[in-house]
Amino acid sequence: MANSIWTIEEFTCPGCGMNYAATREEHAEPHSGQFKCSICSGVVHSWSGKHHFFGWSAVKTKPTVFGRRWAGVGW
Ligand SMILES: [Zn+2]
Repeated sequence: MANSIWTIEEFTCPGCGMNYAATREEHAEPHSGQFKCSICSGVVHSWSGKHHFFGWSAVKTKPTVFGRRWAGVGW
């Protein structure tokens, strides 16, 4: 753990506005990857460099907006 630096970063899906939080871990070697929204399948964040993101989870910071969007999905 001595060489690990973890920080939490938040991202907003450009497609549906869903908020996600992920843990960023610094690495000595380059990593690349991307995370896709579980709701609209849009790319929330893609990265390439000496860091990696893991532990993606949805953050419901705006429940009212979230509810409105879901209400419209059925139509
Ligand atoms: Zn989305």
